[in-house]
Parts: sequence; structure tokens; C-alpha cells
Amino acid sequence: MEFGTQTIWDLLSGYQKKQFKPSEVISGYLKNISERDEKLNSFLQVRPEETLAKARALDAKLDAAQNLPLFGIPVAIKDNFLVQGWQATAGSKVLSGYVSPYTATSVQRLEEMGAIIIGKVNCDEFAMGSSNENSAFGPVRNPWDLERVPGGSSGGSSAAVAAGLATVSLGTDTGGSIRQPASLCGLVGLKPSYGRVSRYGIVAYASSLDQVGPFSRTVWDSARVLEVMAGFDNKDATSSKHPVPRYTEELKSNTKRSFTLGVSRAWLEGVDLDVAKSFEAALEVFKQMGGKIVDIDLPHTKYALSTYYLIAPSEASSNLARYDGVHYGYRTQSAKSSEELYSRSRGEGIGREVKLRIMLGTYALSAGYYDAFYLKANQIRRKIQEDFEKAFTQCDFVVTPTSPSTAFKLGEKTDDPLKMYLSDIFTLPVNLAGLPGLSVSCGLDSKKLPIGFQLIGKPFGERELFIAAHQYEQIRGEFPLSSMAKGKG
Ligand code: GLN
Repeated sequence: MEFGTQTIWDLLSGYQKKQFKPSEVISGYLKNISERDEKLNSFLQVRPEETLAKARALDAKLDAAQNLPLFGIPVAIKDNFLVQGWQATAGSKVLSGYVSPYTATSVQRLEEMGAIIIGKVNCDEFAMGSSNENSAFGPVRNPWDLERVPGGSSGGSSAAVAAGLATVSLGTDTGGSIRQPASLCGLVGLKPSYGRVSRYGIVAYASSLDQVGPFSRTVWDSARVLEVMAGFDNKDATSSKHPVPRYTEELKSNTKRSFTLGVSRAWLEGVDLDVAKSFEAALEVFKQMGGKIVDIDLPHTKYALSTYYLIAPSEASSNLARYDGVHYGYRTQSAKSSEELYSRSRGEGIGREVKLRIMLGTYALSAGYYDAFYLKANQIRRKIQEDFEKAFTQCDFVVTPTSPSTAFKLGEKTDDPLKMYLSDIFTLPVNLAGLPGLSVSCGLDSKKLPIGFQLIGKPFGERELFIAAHQYEQIRGEFPLSSMAKGKG
């Protein structure tokens, strides 16, 4: 049997019927990685022997498969998560050779429920980027078109699932890094509410914005991964005690619900024509489902990009101060003093985009500028939150395209940071407001590249997002696979 295109649901039901066992599934995925990933560059680390041994141990428990919600599911993990004994580079040379002494809570919870880590995947350095071209380990390519980017920063996570190299994957999303690559690769991508999933064991980028979330082919799979890993963790003081619903139970019932979707027309200006068309078609589907579309006003979202590019670099400049050549990873060979050891290790180990952000952030936080920049940005952040609060008195969700364009060519935006930053125009405000956002595929453009739309929910409203998106999916039907996932190209 060929493996690669199955969902969690497919694998779980196959296990229950004893159609195959975990070691066969895992061998199938490892084979796909060895045959296909040379072209994609999505995996930074695989450990076939160890992974297969874990799968064989599960083979013996096949009779009890239904007791573990992720029994024998191959999961790819972005390389900014710590997994004990595995390297965690976060896409940076400054962390090359760093081996994690412990495992991130999110990953640990998946493993406890039967998931098998199939490998660690590539990403933009310290999760800064929208195309995966900022990785110290080379760019990742989009399985739909190898000349194009898979999105970023979790580009390895999206490419791996879209190419059939993992059933699901984990990424992090600080300003769009799960939703945008999911959209560019034809997948479902969820950024949960801030605090929904523990950040313990994640390489911090901007701590007030970072969240962990899944990439999957279906909404049901996304719900399954979230229900396993969400919830309070005493190792992350910002993780929430808000109860975690059994999201997948909610997707069983056939009762149809209709929702009111809010659209801010002003925000949508400037999106590509194909994206706009496909977005409107998705709105039509919601109307068919009995939904209503209302106009809403989010007047401060136009400041989201500037706000984000003050807050995120400021937090990053502080978080990244720890990479000094002494504590972790890379160390320069040519230092004559401790001062030189720090500055050269950082100078040699950290890439261009990350340096740019550290400088931006350090500047914004420096004496005399703090009030003008960082404080101001936080005040606008509050205004953006209030815009959403107000919108949610009129609608259940705010809906946008996920990204203003489909997958662009490698190199197309690397010379123009602003152009690159604009890829996240619809996703950044959601992080600033701490809300959940779910990207779902809604069509292909004229070049046969995937397009996605984003549903933004109320705080801790993941349940409603899943219900609405699952209903949408039933009407849309199965989304096409990339040619690589079908074993071609
Ligand atoms: N592209 C945005 C950035 O570069 C968001 C990245 C992310 O969500 N990690 O910061």
C-alpha cells in the first residue's frame, strides 16, 4: 500500500480495521522522504532507525489502537521546537549543533497520545520570514511548483504535509507563519488563541505573539491535534486554564449551524484578482449554508504591519540576546577576548534578516525611543484588539483571504522586505489581538496554485471555527493534492 496522502482519520480507521500497522505506515512515509525531499529541502533531521523502532513498539499495541487519539500518526516538527535528543536549530547557524535537553510540552503531549515524530523540518531563521528563504539551511520549495516558495516561516512544515512526507505537522505562528504557508500549500493551518497551547520548549521569537499550531489536510485533523496538545501547562505561565473542548466530538453531529461572517472591505484592497474571486466564492458557500455576510469596520488594522514590526523585533532583540556563543550552539574560532567572542559568534552565526530585526528592536527599546515606538505600538495594539471586540458584536467570525497572493517565485521578494512583510497583512492583526485564526483552502488560481481564506474567531473560539470550517469543507469537497503528493514530479 502507498502512504502519504492519508489523513489522521484515514490512518486511525485503517489501524482499527487492522489494514496496516504503524511500522508499515512509518516505513512508507520514510520512503517518501528519501525519494522526494531532495527536491524540497523540507527535512533537516530524520532518524529512521529510532523512528521505526518506536513504530514497531506500537505494532504490538495495535489491538488497543482506539485508546490513543494519535496512534501511529507521523508528525513533522518545525525545527524551533525542542525534542529531547534531537537538534533544534530554529533555522539558524548560531544554533547548529545544539541538542535539546528536554521536549516541548506540545510535542510531548502528541507523543504520549501515540504520535510518532517523523523528523524535524526547515524554517526561516528564528521563524522570521514569509517564504522560508531566510533559513541558514537553504530554502524549501513548494511541492505544487518547485520554482515557488512554500510560504514561511513554517515552510518545511507546510511542504512536508503537502508532499505526503508527514500526515500532519507542527509550526509556530507569530504573525502568520502557520496560516500563510498552509494557504500557499493547500492545507488547513490553525493559529490558536494566545495561551491555548503551551509555548514551553519553543525557541522564543516574540513571546507575546508566538503560538503553536498544526498543519493538516482536513479540519477534523486540525481539531484532533489541537485537542491533544491544548490546555494549561505549569511550565508556561501564559498558558490558559480555559477548558479544552473535545473539538472532534463537535464535528460528529450533523446539525447544521449558520454563522454571520464579518468582512472589512477596506482591508481587502490590493489582493490578487484570482484570490479575490476565490474568496468571494467561499463567501457564497457560507451563504448557501444559511450564513449571513455583514460589513464591518476594523479601522486600526491598517496600522498592524507597523505595529507588529515594532513589537516583534523588540521582543526578539531581548529573546535572542542569549545566543552569545557561550551557552548554545555556534562559537567563533577567532576571538581574542570575551567581548570579541560574543560579538563574533553573533556576527558569524546570525543571518541578515535576523540581525536587521535585532537592530530594529534594540533601537525601538532604547532610552528616549521607548515611549515613541514600543509604548505607542502597544497602545495601537490595544486599539486593534478593540476593533475586533466591536466587530464581534456584529458577527461570529471575521473572514479574510489568508494571503494577498498565491505562492510566489523564489527570489521574487527577497530584495524588498516591505513586499515580503505585506504577505502577512491579513494574519498579523490576529496575533496582535491574540485571537484564533484558521486557514482553509478554497480554490486554485490560474496557475493551479492553492488559495486559502482565513476565519478569525473570538478568544478561545476554536470550537466554532472548526464547526464552521468543517461544514464549509463538506460542501467544498476534497481539496486537490499537489502532484508530488500523488507520487509524481
Ligand atoms: N512573517 C512574519 C515575520 O517575519 C511572521 C513570522 C511568524 O509568524 N513567525 O515576522
